[in-house]
Amino acid sequence: MDIDLVLRSTRVITPEGTRPASIAVSGGTIAAVLPHDAEVPPGARLEDVGDDVVLPGLVDTHVHVNDPGRTEWEGFWTATRAAAAGGITTLLDMPLNSLPPTTTVENLRVKQDVARAKAHVDVGFWGGALPDNVKDLRPLHDAGVFGFKCFLSPSGVEEFPELDQERLATSLAEVAGFDGLMIVHAEDPHHLAAAPPADGRRVRRLPRLPAPGRREHGHREPDRPGPPARRPRPRPAPLLLRRPSGHRRGPGRGVKVTVESCPHFLTLTAEEIPDGATEFKCCPPIREAVNQDALWQGLADGTIDCIVSDHSPSTADLKTPDFASAWGGISSLQLGLPAVWTEARRRGHDLTDVVRWMSEGPARLAGLDRKGAIEAGRDADFAVLDPEATFTVDPAELQHRNRITAYAGKTLHGVVTSTWLRGERSPTAVSSPSPPAASSKGTTDP
Ligand SMILES: [Zn+2]
Repeated sequence: MDIDLVLRSTRVITPEGTRPASIAVSGGTIAAVLPHDAEVPPGARLEDVGDDVVLPGLVDTHVHVNDPGRTEWEGFWTATRAAAAGGITTLLDMPLNSLPPTTTVENLRVKQDVARAKAHVDVGFWGGALPDNVKDLRPLHDAGVFGFKCFLSPSGVEEFPELDQERLATSLAEVAGFDGLMIVHAEDPHHLAAAPPADGRRVRRLPRLPAPGRREHGHREPDRPGPPARRPRPRPAPLLLRRPSGHRRGPGRGVKVTVESCPHFLTLTAEEIPDGATEFKCCPPIREAVNQDALWQGLADGTIDCIVSDHSPSTADLKTPDFASAWGGISSLQLGLPAVWTEARRRGHDLTDVVRWMSEGPARLAGLDRKGAIEAGRDADFAVLDPEATFTVDPAELQHRNRITAYAGKTLHGVVTSTWLRGERSPTAVSSPSPPAASSKGTTDP
């Protein structure tokens, strides 16, 4: 086997833990994970990233790219650039908010053709389960979608109606018939109907929940300066992914339920949302700190399997100051990793936990057995992170189409220094999210 690249670091996160290693790459695949001081084979290029941490490329299974049809909101070119800049090497596109929605094989082909020409990271597709497309589910499955998204409450766009209980049961039976996967936006429409009306410019608070047990906060490590700038390279060719045809979800006993959460639910709180700041509006809404503690407890005990972005952008004009009418969606493809890492470290977690939630877990959910871990035989997809460096979020540095962010001005830990897609460095991963003058190395967080 010809090794063409050796990626070396004192901190490589493997399924067995974090260790100094040299990752040998052949033809875009990890050939071996070798000792740090392994000899570089003749003809291979050495990339030594020093003490920066090498993570398996993140897998984001919840992204609304909106392309084609609502490309003024987002598109494959900008979304996948933002993904690469954030350490994400695989994204799965949600079936709604594009026109057409991914609800027939014909529509899937339209979406694939658009993505093929524009993507900077590997892209796959969820299908949509609507009240009237049960007959389309098996053909979509056979065409390689990773599963089906449905809503139990209004989705926010009229071309993607929700399922009632009866149609949910019908769709679940159909999907179970071919051992497929159904993912559910599980807001109860009856609870929503009974809730008080949305409240203009002010976020309405929920009654307090009982406080769950708190974790001890972790130690702080000293901050280090950021990495040097990298020169641009041509972009690696992305793949349009299909669900692996032989993939099965195991014996059909019991009910298999996987739970996801998102960076904004884990790092932002209702208490901090200023009046009229609808860049914080999403669906379901961001709740109070006590709820956030419960989510982190769920991550710690394994109840929550995945953290994915639910990147759901819109144009600025749809983010009116009225929480009742503003578009509900937060864009975080580029910021999810540092946002989650910042809070995770504060709560005493380490990067292996973050990898489990943001790479390994989503890859397993989707059956992406070449993604989600640094081990021989997997794709050479990497996110290289300086976990101690900090930066302050400047909307001007964001690569997604509409630079609206709930994270503006926040100081986050974790600078993505490079992203690698099947052995090629992505030219879109910014070497430093903030220009030196605007960065705040050494700034402390709470
Ligand atoms: Zn979503």
